[in-house]
Amino acid sequence: MSSQFADKFELVDCPEQTIKCAECNKALMHYKVTIPNAPLEHKLQATCPFCQNGKSFLHEVKGDIVVGPIGKDESATPTVINDIDLSESGLSTFQIVRG
Ligand SMILES: [Zn+2]
Repeated sequence: MSSQFADKFELVDCPEQTIKCAECNKALMHYKVTIPNAPLEHKLQATCPFCQNGKSFLHEVKGDIVVGPIGKDESATPTVINDIDLSESGLSTFQIVRG
């Protein structure tokens, strides 16, 4: 019988989600939930390097996640995650630059 911990925090291969700019609709970054029932909540937002003052909509996500940039092989406008600003309200703002 597997441990209670493994049952409680099961690794799940959830589909990758894409965060897009709310202004110009370009893909800015990906995230993927790896442990949906982990006791974590994230508020994710990304800045856009492709338009002036562009930002994504806020993504509220529960569970443990991994994040990644947009790859050169998937878009003509790849990105790099340059920095992450963490605010006291729990918002993580990803500073995206052109890849
Ligand atoms: Zn934009």
